[in-house]
Amino acid sequence: MRVLLFALLLSIVSLSFATPDNVVLVVGDGMGFNHLFLSELLYGENPATRLFRVSLGLNSPVDALITDSAAAATALFSGVRTVNNAAGLDPSGNPVQSVATVLKERGWKVAMITNARYYDGTPAAFYAHAFRTDDLQITEDLVNSDIDLFVAGGLEKLGLNPFTGKPKKNGTLERLAASGYTVYGLQFEKLFEPIGEKKGSMAFLSMGDNSFENALLPNEMSLPEIVRKSLELIAGPKLFLVVEAARIDDASHINDDAVVKAELLAFQKTVRLLLDSFDNSKTLFLILADHETGGLSIIMGDERAIDLEIAWCSGDHTASYIPILSYGEGSESFSDFLHLSDVNRILLEILGGEVR
Ligand SMILES: [Zn+2]
Repeated sequence: MRVLLFALLLSIVSLSFATPDNVVLVVGDGMGFNHLFLSELLYGENPATRLFRVSLGLNSPVDALITDSAAAATALFSGVRTVNNAAGLDPSGNPVQSVATVLKERGWKVAMITNARYYDGTPAAFYAHAFRTDDLQITEDLVNSDIDLFVAGGLEKLGLNPFTGKPKKNGTLERLAASGYTVYGLQFEKLFEPIGEKKGSMAFLSMGDNSFENALLPNEMSLPEIVRKSLELIAGPKLFLVVEAARIDDASHINDDAVVKAELLAFQKTVRLLLDSFDNSKTLFLILADHETGGLSIIMGDERAIDLEIAWCSGDHTASYIPILSYGEGSESFSDFLHLSDVNRILLEILGGEVR
């Protein structure tokens, strides 16, 4: 009996110290529960809701009921509730530490892929400390960051000549190379080799945001294509990968049914691709939204998505519970009712142990 009890105790202790080899965090910007339901009606069973543990989350900043992406991402990445417009700053404007910095210090690789411009609220809160309108500071923080892989849009602010498609002399793209990055441009064309010791890779794949999925320019890639290509540049173990499906938010701001459907299809394909790309038994997958956008409702139709009618009640973010979905190693830790800021704390607890 004693031996049995001891074995049981041992297994509990080893369970509580099990650390995933990799963490994959997908942020659906503006993706409320009804967006998830719509994606499932349109494109079949969504692994995000069928496979994953589903929890409710709160997201309010300290100065409002309704959050913007910067404050929500600061709560998520730094565990600090702050004011709207603050990316990587506390309510007084002081820098807060990002999970990217903490994990780098613990020997992890950190990567972020987004189809928004690099200076948008969500990516900025990952590596910068600035108010979201301060593009200059955000750009400086990007140059001085320590991310292993960063993929975004925003080429227009980085010194790319829009006529020749070539980087300007002494522009920010060149400074990124001087900071140790291999720099890629449109369609992952290599623009610069790193100068000195290689720190990582950065790719900027569009002027401004990547276009909507149903209106991609010939030189742009869809989000799942971007993720597939990005994964050729980095691998685990000890990889913390953030993928942002950013344009669900923009599609919902303009209340455009066709655009939001296309963005949700790209989101669903991206989730499947990520599940296929990592060992599910050793990876923690998290999917969550920073907030809901548009007040999307489905007011008509049947389960085969025939004659679906969508209604919108807002052109902005709304107050609602957000989905926090988790799957794989460590996912049981996310079963409580959480604020976005709790996700950061739990993640760092889970990743405090040794990788097997
Ligand atoms: Zn928005």
